[in-house]
Amino acid sequence: MRSKRLISIVVPAYNEEEALPLFYGQLKEVLDTLSDDHEIIFVNDGSEDRTSEILERIAEEDPTVHPIHFSRNFGHQAALSAGLEKARGDYTITMDGDGQHPPKLIPELIRLADSGYDIVLTQRIETGKQSSFKKWSSETFYKVLNKVSDTQTLPGGADFRLMNRESLDALLSLPEYHRFLRGMVSWIGFRSVILPFEVPERLAGKTKYSLKKMFRLASDAVFSFSMVPLYIGLSAGALFFVLAIIEAIYVLSFWISGKGATLTPGWSSLMFMMLIIGAVLMIIMGFIGVYVGYIFQEVKHRPVFICRSSSAKENEDRNQ
Ligand code: UDP
Ligand code: MG
Repeated sequence: MRSKRLISIVVPAYNEEEALPLFYGQLKEVLDTLSDDHEIIFVNDGSEDRTSEILERIAEEDPTVHPIHFSRNFGHQAALSAGLEKARGDYTITMDGDGQHPPKLIPELIRLADSGYDIVLTQRIETGKQSSFKKWSSETFYKVLNKVSDTQTLPGGADFRLMNRESLDALLSLPEYHRFLRGMVSWIGFRSVILPFEVPERLAGKTKYSLKKMFRLASDAVFSFSMVPLYIGLSAGALFFVLAIIEAIYVLSFWISGKGATLTPGWSSLMFMMLIIGAVLMIIMGFIGVYVGYIFQEVKHRPVFICRSSSAKENEDRNQ
């Protein structure tokens, strides 16, 4: 039987020189109160400031700290993925390095996992402190995403979550390049529970999520979880086809009522041809779109299914 459980903490950090020492202090204070062992994996996402030196200094003094340094800035989702791959814990918790994911919630996350959940998600509660642009963009993003995607993602969800070994191994079996972890975590299933939390102010520094990074994340989310954009061609083709039929009926009505001669010569046939050609082209594009969609799904190499251990009891045994 294993002596103590291991809790892994994964923290991506990009230019967090000011916040990191404070965050590390807060985190360590909480982890030291736990009866479990812990490891802290900091992923330095190609920072240009002193983040790298600070992490190395912390690691020298604390053997539970393991820094990973990226060769350049690969982005938050890549940094999280690297940390998750390295984590060896029975429970793995991902959190931001700027203090906006409060370490004092860690015992609560662990308690929820102990009560039989595989994944503990967190959800940001609006406090009014957030800028109205962030609030609006986040709300719109989740609305659109959940409309077009088969996988439902928790609105206001944060990349602050706990995963047990089983669910993390399932997540790691998804090798795709464009990663939207919040969606991927929801895609793998498992028993999950939501812990709402108030987002505190950043300990120091400013947001590292530029507008460009936000757009990239949004497009990764929409395009890797939805085939809807690919079906637009098919819908447009169908629409043109209907228009062609309406036009034919309209022209026919003139001939039936004996007013055929009043139509401008050439208009009917030209219009009909244009609509039909448009419809055919778009329908063919739509079909190609569908095939591209299938290819896209294939190259993502996601597993066809994921099993979970049969009972909560088994999990409990494993965690002892
Ligand atoms: N981050 C990262 N790489 C990036 C951007 C951000 O590793 O390219 C990290 C950052 O250091 C922080 C977390 O991701 O720990 C979330 O970023 P931030 O707090 O700036 O986002 P916001 O709170 O503004 O949504
Ligand atoms: Mg933040």
